[in-house]
Amino acid sequence: METKRHYDAIVIGAGPAGLTAGIYLSRAKLKTLILNEGITGGQLILTHEIANYPGVENISGYQLSNIMMKQAKTFGCEIRSSIDILDMELQKKVKTITLSDQTEYTADSVILTPGGRSRTLNVPGEDQFRGRGVSYCATCDGDFFTGKEIVVIGGGNSALEESVSLTMYASKVTIVHQFDHFQAFEHAVEEAQANPKIHFIMESVITGFYGNESIESVGIKNLRSGRTTNFKTHGVFVFIGYLPNTEFIRDKVELNNRGEIVVKHDMSTNIEGVYAAGDSIAKHFRQITTAVGDGTIAALAASSYVHGLKAKQKHLITT
Ligand SMILES: Cc1cc2nc3c(=O)[nH]c(=O)nc-3n(C[C@H](O)[C@H](O)[C@H](O)COP(=O)(O)OP(=O)(O)OC[C@H]3O[C@@H](n4cnc5c(N)ncnc54)[C@H](O)[C@@H]3O)c2cc1C
Repeated sequence: METKRHYDAIVIGAGPAGLTAGIYLSRAKLKTLILNEGITGGQLILTHEIANYPGVENISGYQLSNIMMKQAKTFGCEIRSSIDILDMELQKKVKTITLSDQTEYTADSVILTPGGRSRTLNVPGEDQFRGRGVSYCATCDGDFFTGKEIVVIGGGNSALEESVSLTMYASKVTIVHQFDHFQAFEHAVEEAQANPKIHFIMESVITGFYGNESIESVGIKNLRSGRTTNFKTHGVFVFIGYLPNTEFIRDKVELNNRGEIVVKHDMSTNIEGVYAAGDSIAKHFRQITTAVGDGTIAALAASSYVHGLKAKQKHLITT
C-alpha cells in the first residue's frame, strides 16, 4: 500500500462544509483529498428531512450528502472515510497529516471542517441509559418510540423541529425547557405549539434519568418552585446545543474559549495555508447553508493561496 502522497489541498471532515470545499478545490484543478473520521456526510446523515436548503424543496440529509459527495468525486476529489488522524504538522509550509494506520499525507494547504456534536446534560443516569431510552438523534431512534410517550429537552431550533418530526412516531412529546421562552425561530415555535401531540414544561431542568433495563422516568425540577417531580417516560431526546470537534487541533490552530476555530473573513486561521469552515468555527448561525457558504470561501481562499505558491515556484524555476 502506498503510504505517502502529496496533495494541493487536504480537507479534514466530510460534512457539508468539507464536501463543498472539495467540490470547489477539485473544480479549480487542485489535487484534493478529503479525510473523514466517520461516515461521509457529517451531521447531514442525522437529519431526517431538510426543507430549508435553497433549490431543493425537500430532501433527506443522507440523500443530500450523497449528491454532494458524488459531485466532489466527479471533479476528481478523493475522499477517505473512517480514518483516524494520529498527528498533524501544520506550521511548516508543507503540511503533514499522519493517520493511525501510519499513512502520511502532505499538502500545501489544509481546510479544517470537523463540525460539531451534541452537548450532553451530564446528569445522573444519562450515560447509563444512553441507547436504552436516551437519544441525541431523532432520525436514528425516533421509530423505536412508535406509540410511546417521550420527553424532549431543549429550546432551540433542533429541539423544536425534531419534536415535530418525533410526533410521526410518538403518541405524546413533552418538551422540557429551562427558560420561559424558546431560542428557536418563530416559525419552529409556532409549528410545535400548533401540534396537538406536543406539550410543554417550561422553566424546568432534568435532574436525573431513572429505570431498570431501559429508562422509565426522569426527574424534573421546576426552577421557580424548586420542586422536583418524577415524570414517567419511555424515552428522552436531548437537543441542548453542540460542541465543536476541535480537541484534536487544540494546540495546532487558534481556538476561542468555547473551542471554536478563530477565522478571518476569508476563513484563514492564524496559520499560513490553513483555513477552516462550517460548524467548528467561531460564528453564531450553524446551518447547512452557512457551512456550505464557509466551505466555498475557504476553498476559494485556499485555491488562491496554492495557485500563488505554484506561480512563485514557476517563476523561481524560469529565472
Ligand atoms: C439533528 C439535526 C438536524 C439538523 N437539521 C438541519 C436542517 O434541517 N437544516 C440545516 O440547515 N441544518 C440542520 N442541521 C445542522 C447542520 O447539519 C450542520 O450545521 C452542518 O452539518 C454543519 O456542517 P459541517 O460540515 O460544518 O460539520 P458536520 O456536518 O458536523 O461534519 C463534520 C465532519 O467532520 C468529521 N470529523 C470530525 N472530527 C474529525 C477528525 N478529527 N478527523 C476527521 N474527520 C473529522 C465528522 O465525522 C463529520 O463527518 C441539523 C443538525 C442536526 C444534528
